[in-house]
Order: sequence, then structure tokens, then C-alpha cells
Amino acid sequence: MPAIRFTDHRELPVANIFCIGRNYAAHAAELGNKVEPEPVVFLKPTSALLHEEQKVVLPAHSRDVHYEGELVLVVGTAGKNIHREAALSHIAGYGLGLDLTARDLQSSAKEKGLPWAVAKGFDGAACVSRFLSAEMIPQPLAASFWLDLNGVRRQDGDCMLMIYDLPCIIEYLSSRFALQVGDLIYTGTPAGVGALQSGDVVKMGLLDKLQAQFTVA
Ligand code: MG
Repeated sequence: MPAIRFTDHRELPVANIFCIGRNYAAHAAELGNKVEPEPVVFLKPTSALLHEEQKVVLPAHSRDVHYEGELVLVVGTAGKNIHREAALSHIAGYGLGLDLTARDLQSSAKEKGLPWAVAKGFDGAACVSRFLSAEMIPQPLAASFWLDLNGVRRQDGDCMLMIYDLPCIIEYLSSRFALQVGDLIYTGTPAGVGALQSGDVVKMGLLDKLQAQFTVA
């Protein structure tokens, strides 16, 4: 069963992989998307999970796979209809991830009004770092992260700039889905997404507490 790992080597089996879309206004604008009145939610299969020591293999059925650097939450306490005041207590840890997206397939699906599963759920499309225990991030609403592609800064994420902040995401998701221990939540990408090529190296950092590296085969 796919699992995530904490920096202290604990492991937690992964239940669902939820993703939030269009959570930063500048990124929604760069793809020409409207900001929706409710969070945009989609899921990836657990077979999409990929750890740092595994290489990203670009799928043959796409010619335009994009990185989307995101803060990732892992749920530690199950819950339904969680109130925003209690939301952060349900988070067991914070990590970094890439919501890899076959942009050509996603654009085609959007045009036809079809689901994004094939564009967002291929093997390796949910890259994930190790996780910090929640107590190591005492102020998650003010957390920031960055993404470098081949040594060049491409993305800066700031949780203060999220359209739907972390408590809002937990509150909304748990109003629609019973959250389970081990659920991952990709919280959306800031502006600066772009295509990956064979040999690319993606580095990410969360505050000064966690770094991750993903390499494209
Ligand atoms: Mg995304």
C-alpha cells in the first residue's frame, strides 16, 4: 500500500489524494481560468504517488507535462463537517509535492467538459516529499515555499496568498467527503508552472525546514 514518510522515519499509509485547483489568483490568471466561488477539487489515484528516490517518467501519451509545486497536507485525525477553528488539529504533517499535469490532455478535457483523471492521475503524477510533523510548522497559515527548475527559481508559494486558506480547505473538503487518516491534500499551485523535459531537476523548499528534489528520467 502506498505510504508517505515523515522526516523522523515514521510511515503512514495513504488513503485518498485530494487536490485543490485554482487556489492562487495569479496562477488561475496564467491559465486563463476564472476563480470559482467554491474550491475546485479533483482526486488522483494512489498509484500516482512518487517519492524523491524514484525518477519521474514522463508519460508517452502527453507532449506537455507541467510541474505544479504545492504544499501538501496529510490528515492525521479523521473527520466529517470539520469546523474551521478545529481544522488545523486534523493535520498530522506538512510536505511538498508536484501535481504533475499533462497540460495538453487537460486542455482537451476542459474544452470537451470531460474529467481530468487521465491528465492528472498517471503513474508518478503525485510527487511527494517527506513530511514534517505538524508541530514543526507552528504557523502554517504563514508558511511559504519555493520551486527551482534546473537551478532557476520558478515558483514562490505563500499560504497568505491562497484564495482558500488551509482551514477553509479542510472545512470545505470535510463537508463533501469524510476525511480519513492518511488522506493527502495538495493545496494548489502558485504562478510559474511550466513544462518538464527529460533530465530536468526540480528542487523545492518549505520555509528553512524541508527540502525535496525530483529528477525527470
Ligand atoms: Mg495543482
